[in-house]
Amino acid sequence: MNILEQARQQVSFDVDSVTPLLYGSKEQAEHIKQFLEKCKNIPEVQTSPDYYNWNRGIQFLSKGDQALAFQKLLDFKLDEIPLYLGTIIYSATTNYYGVYFGMVVPAIKVLGTDEQINAWYTDCLNLKIAGCYAQTELAHGSDVQSLQTTATYDQKTDEFIIHTPSVEAVKFWPGELGFLANWALVYAKLIVNNKSHGVQAFMVPIRDLNTHKPLPGIEVGDIGPKIGYTSKDNGYLKFTHCRIPSFNMLAKYIKVTRDGQVIRQGDPKVSYSAMMIMRKLIITVYPRTAATSLTIAIRYSIARQQFTNDQGQENSVLEYQTQQHKLLPLLANLYSIIFTGLKVGQLVDLNFSQVQKQDFSLMAICHAIICGTKANFTYFVSNCAEWCRLSCGGHGYAHYSGLPAIYQDNCPNITLEGENQIMYLQLARFLLKLYNQAKQASKKINETYFGLFNRLQAISDYRCTQFTREQILQLLESNVIHSIQITNDKMMAHINNGLDPKSVWDYKIGTDLWSSANNFIEYYKYLSFLQTIEQADNNNTKRVLRDLADLFAASILLEGSSVLIETGVINVESIKLIREFYTQQLTIIKPEAIGLVEAFRYNDASLRSTIGCSDGQPYEKTYHSAINENTLNKTDFKPIVNQLKNIKARL
Ligand SMILES: Cc1cc2nc3c(=O)[nH]c(=O)nc-3n(C[C@H](O)[C@H](O)[C@H](O)COP(=O)(O)OP(=O)(O)OC[C@H]3O[C@@H](n4cnc5c(N)ncnc54)[C@H](O)[C@@H]3O)c2cc1C
Repeated sequence: MNILEQARQQVSFDVDSVTPLLYGSKEQAEHIKQFLEKCKNIPEVQTSPDYYNWNRGIQFLSKGDQALAFQKLLDFKLDEIPLYLGTIIYSATTNYYGVYFGMVVPAIKVLGTDEQINAWYTDCLNLKIAGCYAQTELAHGSDVQSLQTTATYDQKTDEFIIHTPSVEAVKFWPGELGFLANWALVYAKLIVNNKSHGVQAFMVPIRDLNTHKPLPGIEVGDIGPKIGYTSKDNGYLKFTHCRIPSFNMLAKYIKVTRDGQVIRQGDPKVSYSAMMIMRKLIITVYPRTAATSLTIAIRYSIARQQFTNDQGQENSVLEYQTQQHKLLPLLANLYSIIFTGLKVGQLVDLNFSQVQKQDFSLMAICHAIICGTKANFTYFVSNCAEWCRLSCGGHGYAHYSGLPAIYQDNCPNITLEGENQIMYLQLARFLLKLYNQAKQASKKINETYFGLFNRLQAISDYRCTQFTREQILQLLESNVIHSIQITNDKMMAHINNGLDPKSVWDYKIGTDLWSSANNFIEYYKYLSFLQTIEQADNNNTKRVLRDLADLFAASILLEGSSVLIETGVINVESIKLIREFYTQQLTIIKPEAIGLVEAFRYNDASLRSTIGCSDGQPYEKTYHSAINENTLNKTDFKPIVNQLKNIKARL
């Protein structure tokens, strides 16, 4: 029996019972599995093993063929998000039109009037209109209110004039702008009668629909090579007094009347709600590529054998405690993220359905949670790919392992759609507000998402003298409340000393704000993990998942318990007990690890890895790729070798 088969025999739970929990339902799990199976047999959707030897132009074109094949497979239901998930798992690299369907189309749906949706939506789905999301400029990204592109209303002609007033205002970075887009959803400062009315969204044609050449007044192109992300044409865009009909400003929440009046309706914050759709994708879809990394790394760590045990047999490298320490907490964290992502996805959907009915009551909660999870999850996915690569030794460094591509194509998510630091600060602001409301008992806090603030006193008073696993939740709650308390106290002390609140925020308490937000998200992930375990259909599965959840929490407590020590919540004895508990959990989870990654049900073709295949035979495939797939081996290097031979060494 091969070594992976032997490992599978040691798994103590029913792997099939976990799969539906990972996808939200049995049906959804089956749907994705079938999609991946279908992909397996279609040559055009495979990423060539030689892909990373090609130049970027050829890589880009090959992704076009892949996109077409995916679209046929999806039966041209281009905005069906669950299947988009399948294409991301399958291709690892960025997809054509990901930004378009993730941001532009939702923005039109959410911010457009019925007339605008009627005018554009069908053309959007048929890709006659292919838009990019043009918000960021060379000089400003995070600070959206400081964008400088202008949209000036011309009352005489009932048009907007879109203009780039300086090089700082050139749109820079939008994905799909460089080569693909013929329209851009442009975020520009609305100017009416010389007065600015803030940044609004405008649909602007940028390339001729027949020739695909830039329209008059438009300069557009690709910004150049980046870390990986080769198949995404991030672009630049400059406008010189481009006129568009007034109809093209997305006008569900703001409109300019013919006589130059600006009328707002609903909550202006909703104009950024389109961002939430893309962030939901980032939170719910991309962590699934971390499951790819871990499937590869855990399988390989079982198949890879180095050094002998006391019976003279070679050890799988997963037997070594340090290897378990590298991989198993990541696996536990992945599960917490997948389960939390499903919950956040439901919250975003609920918020959206309410926003459509002009009910904004969940908006702030949804924004805060999505900001924090976006930051936490995207750091995790890149970090996870990097640690998986490191855990696979030399072979992890090769593109044939599949791991470098996952790292490269996920690391932009840390920056795009809200830079992570800024995201954490937004959650921290919300947490401080809740904390002060709870302290003054001025308002009952939303129990579903922030119930711990309703138990402020009890949590503040809690002390852990002898750690047991039953106390994990209380410890994580304390970690949140005490870090917020410390941050708030520091802030108030600075303000009482005469500093203004903005300066305190910007220059004095940034790192405290960061850890308060991060501690909240780690607590929220553990809570979501526990809630999901309750949905498992048998006790055996519940037992293993509980062990995994507690491994996750123990690793968090060991890494980030300084606040608990500082405030006397925990003593040295308990820290020692947590450390022992952590190593014990590594031992418990090790034999389950293969079952836990294989519960994602990724097939070999979707892993794109020579070292992570289901048959546990890494060497034949790696050798085969080097000799058969590597086109550089067919290149004649003799001319340069001959020239080098002519160098005369100075003796
Ligand atoms: C691959 C990729 C794809 C992208 N796609 C798009 C797209 O399709 N459309 C689009 O419009 N844009 C896109 N962007 C741009 C992206 O949204 C921005 O780069 C991102 O929002 C970060 O903004 P920034 O570049 O202004 O970073 P900055 O805000 O300048 O960040 C630089 C540093 O300053 C720190 N910082 C800034 N302000 C503060 C503060 N107040 N407090 C503490 N720290 C601070 C940050 O944490 C960071 O460390 C893309 C970017 C990338 C990399």
